[in-house]
Amino acid sequence: MISKEHIEALAALLGDKALVTSPEMLAPHLEEWRGKFFGKTSLMLTPQTTDDMAAAITYCADHNIKIVPQGGNTGLVGGSLPGLGAYQEILISTKCMRQVLGVDVAHMSITAEAGCTVAALQQAAAEHGLMFPLSLASEGSCTVGGIIATNAGGVHVLRYGTTRALTLGLEAVLPSGDIYSGLKALKKDNTGYDLSQLLIGAEGTLGIITKATFKLVPAEVQKHTLWLAVKSPQCAVSLLASARIITGERVSAFEIMPHTGLDFILDHIPGTRSPLATTAPWYVLTEIACSVDDPALTANLESWLMDTMEAGQILDGALAASQSQASDFWRLRESMSQAQKLEGGSIKHDISVPVSSIADFISETTTMLEARFPGCRVTPFGHVGDGNLHFNVMQPKDGDRAAFLATWEDMTHLVHDQAIKFGGSISAEHGIGSLKKAELARTKNKADLDTMRRIKKALDPNNIMNPNVLFVDTA
Ligand SMILES: Cc1cc2nc3c(=O)[nH]c(=O)nc-3n(C[C@H](O)[C@H](O)[C@H](O)COP(=O)(O)OP(=O)(O)OC[C@H]3O[C@@H](n4cnc5c(N)ncnc54)[C@H](O)[C@@H]3O)c2cc1C
Repeated sequence: MISKEHIEALAALLGDKALVTSPEMLAPHLEEWRGKFFGKTSLMLTPQTTDDMAAAITYCADHNIKIVPQGGNTGLVGGSLPGLGAYQEILISTKCMRQVLGVDVAHMSITAEAGCTVAALQQAAAEHGLMFPLSLASEGSCTVGGIIATNAGGVHVLRYGTTRALTLGLEAVLPSGDIYSGLKALKKDNTGYDLSQLLIGAEGTLGIITKATFKLVPAEVQKHTLWLAVKSPQCAVSLLASARIITGERVSAFEIMPHTGLDFILDHIPGTRSPLATTAPWYVLTEIACSVDDPALTANLESWLMDTMEAGQILDGALAASQSQASDFWRLRESMSQAQKLEGGSIKHDISVPVSSIADFISETTTMLEARFPGCRVTPFGHVGDGNLHFNVMQPKDGDRAAFLATWEDMTHLVHDQAIKFGGSISAEHGIGSLKKAELARTKNKADLDTMRRIKKALDPNNIMNPNVLFVDTA
């Protein structure tokens, strides 16, 4: 519980309006999107400027008040909620720092405050004929600070990279209260350690991001969206390779889902229908796009479709004839999480392996899971183009949900050990948060984890900044 004296002092520094103490107003900030975690705190600060943020953090540092930074609260690993562990953190939200500060058309970059949403970045870029290429289902709520802190991915990573690849520079308030001024739009800057890179993916443990500058790309003018029926993940991976070549590297998304997943969607999500009459074991949703009208691209794509169908690599396919049909295809992909939720209990994994190992990973891991957890329904889907699978396992049909969820730890160990065996990662895009910190401790190389701890200790000696994430023990 934060004392009355602290509340008065922080109100004097930031103004009364920047303090939220009412349980009703705190409530939406204390529940995770899936309803999996519920946080606790009696105070949220909402600074409006970097200087206010620095004043707030300096005060917290001086009085050893622990902090959890929060953006859109769409994170899925319990990293944006206070009070989940041994600490009584306060929340610092960036909800009052939402401005787009400018688009530099010549440099193709955009600068915005930390609380600005991804959708607002996309909108501002589009107004200048440009595109902010990060695209994820939470884009209406997730923020500049959140995507940087989690190094968010999404469906376009294959072509445009993760948030790390898009971030040119950033400004942040460090755990000491000092302001790090790395808000440079430079593509080249070799002047020693790059603190911006350290803050990307740090999940709010090394500072609070207050502003950032991102790369933009030319808007996609010509776009082809295809729904393809395929025999296996191996076919999907081969198709990806040939599509990249024949389109001249213009594949901007390449997603996969199994037939069981499509069935869940058709059963649970109103108004959905399969794009094809053919049923197949797996489906691919791919998008091929470029920034000019290019008739050669269309011709190449059509002959690629004919050749691959003749060769039996594609069993059937639909090319969206309109934007509305393309949106219907994407709706299926984006409904996958919701459909799984409605189908019953599921144990979720966000793993990545090299693209060339995806097929073997899926087949070997599925066999192991089905042998060890009879009746479980393995339903992996996601960003095959960059090696990231949401390797979700559904409870047996009509089985006992609680009994199935009780296998969470065993099952997760199996899936994560498999990811590591295939040279992959136990967290491809959602981060570690508080959810996976024990798994990080179990699976990460000791030297790597020790170095991370030393970095944390150097920048945050009193462990005030998001102390309950990443590390199982106090850094
Ligand atoms: C429907 C749905 C779909 C999703 N799809 C994807 C996807 O495709 N790819 C993907 O990568 N993720 C996805 N996510 C996860 C989530 O949207 C991302 O992790 C996103 O980057 C979180 O942004 P946020 O602003 O909501 O951050 P929050 O949830 O508020 O915080 C996430 C983490 O960042 C820290 N943080 C927040 N703001 C700051 C700041 N200013 N400075 C320092 N640290 C900060 C928090 O402390 C926390 O550790 C999805 C989530 C949902 C609900």
